[in-house]
Order: sequence, then structure tokens, then C-alpha cells
Amino acid sequence: MSRIAYVNGRYVPHRGASVHIEDRGYQFADGVYEVIAVVDGALIDEPRHLERLAYSLGELKIKPPMADGPLRIVMREVLRRNRVRNGMIYLQVTRGRAPRDHGFPKSSEPALVMTARGAKPGRAKLLANGVSVVSAPDIRWERCDIKSISLLPNVLAKQAAAEAGAYECWQIDVDGYVTEGSASNAWIITDKDEIVTRAPTHDILNGITRRAVIDLAGQEGLTHVERPFTLEEAQGAREAFLTSTTSHVLPVVKIAGKTVADGKPGPLTLRLEGNYADFIKSAA
Ligand code: PMP
Repeated sequence: MSRIAYVNGRYVPHRGASVHIEDRGYQFADGVYEVIAVVDGALIDEPRHLERLAYSLGELKIKPPMADGPLRIVMREVLRRNRVRNGMIYLQVTRGRAPRDHGFPKSSEPALVMTARGAKPGRAKLLANGVSVVSAPDIRWERCDIKSISLLPNVLAKQAAAEAGAYECWQIDVDGYVTEGSASNAWIITDKDEIVTRAPTHDILNGITRRAVIDLAGQEGLTHVERPFTLEEAQGAREAFLTSTTSHVLPVVKIAGKTVADGKPGPLTLRLEGNYADFIKSAA
């Protein structure tokens, strides 16, 4: 079966799908995106993803390409045409096509592209063994709360992880604190069983999985603290993990060459992972 993409109002074969060379996303990375997990055909945490999309667009003064109602219909149609019931949907909105000039064009229609993909196998093994992360200076801009398609520092960070045989790269701010991964949020659990992650300021993307895990931790009566932590604190923590739409909750067992605790996925992390899996199942 051939894949289908949605490109500016049309469902086209993925193979030949393209946008104009003067699309501002292509020329200036002038756009935003979302990735939503699909489980048994259901879009997980869809309202929060649409809310964050609206926020990212609003911060960049990009007009929404369509209202949420039609957008939800198009997402489902993309999933249907690709027969994806478990996987993810990617959507990207740019400021659209205009003669190349840095300032906003006087008139341009936002461009909307969507693709869908089946779930990647292999998560069970990552969950069972835990993953390792490396670190790199956070060289991104000061608005990491916007889910911008301008991802070059994230690309470089992820590549650094791949070259080191690690799963993720935790980025470190100028004061020596971990901000987040290249495509995930970073967490530790302290000796006092506090679940710690950085506050959702402009320094990080406020992950939808992050928000779900905070809600679940609250429901479990676990103490959750929003504060920065250093790489050294993380290396010496009782447990560490990361969260994202595609990774869910994954235990981190090695940080920049140092084994965390006994090097095995921690019990509280696995409990949160289980809670998150239940949450997804109940949403599906
Ligand atoms: N931080 C960054 C930089 C990301 O790219 C992502 C994944 N898009 C996340 C955090 C996690 O966000 P979410 O849980 O919404 O996928």
C-alpha cells in the first residue's frame, strides 16, 4: 500500500509530495509542527496538542490554516488513507509561500502538511533495558517553548547521541543545568522520591507527555517538583527517565558515561510508565 500525504488541501502520494521552493518553512524554518501518538485509532491527548499548536502559531503570528474541527477531520482522513491505527501523525504549518524576504509577507496563506506513520518496533527492549543519554551544550534560541521546525541544534544533539551509541542527548544551559533532550523532556527521581523536571519556561518545550506524567504522578500521590538539575545531580540520582510522544516514558540508566544507581530501570519510573500506558489504553 502506498503512503498518502496531505499537502495544502490535497491528498497526494507520499512519494511525490512536495511544497513550493519559496515556502517560508523551506527557506526560513518559519513554521511549527506537532506529533500526535495514535493508539488503536485514537489520537492521544489531542486537545492538548491542538492547544499547543495554537500557542506556537500565535507566538509566531502565523494564521491557523483551518479551524480545529476541520483539522481533526483531515487528521483522521490521513490516518484512514494510510491505514495507521497505531503510530503517529505529523503535522506542520508554515507561514506559507511568498517571494523570499525576511520580514513577514503582506499576504500569504499558511501551508499545512500532514503525514502518518506506523509505530516503530523496539520500544519493549528499550523499556526493559533502559537507555543511555549523552550531553551537549544547549545552543538553541531563547524560545524553546515554541514547537518550531527550526531544529538544527536538536538535529546536531541527536546526531551526537547516535554517534556515541546513545538514545538521546541532554542539553545543558550556560549555568550547567539540564534543559531537555533533543526531542524529549528530562527527569530525575531523588533520594526523597521527588520526581523532578524543569519548569515549563521559555527554556524547554512543555511536552504533552510531560504534562500527562505530572497529572499521573499527582493522582498517585507522588511528590513532583519543577526545578532545574545539573548533569552531576542526574548522574547521582536514584532514577532518571525521559518522556515524549513517541518514546512515552523511558528509563535512563546511563548519563554521559556514568551509570545511574544500579544501571537498571528504576521502580518509580516503571510505575509511572505503567500508569502512562494505562492512560493511553483508556484514551484509545
Ligand atoms: N522537548 C523537545 C525539544 C521535543 O522535541 C519534544 C518532542 N516533540 C519533547 C520535549 C516532548 O514533547 P511531547 O511529549 O509533546 O512529545
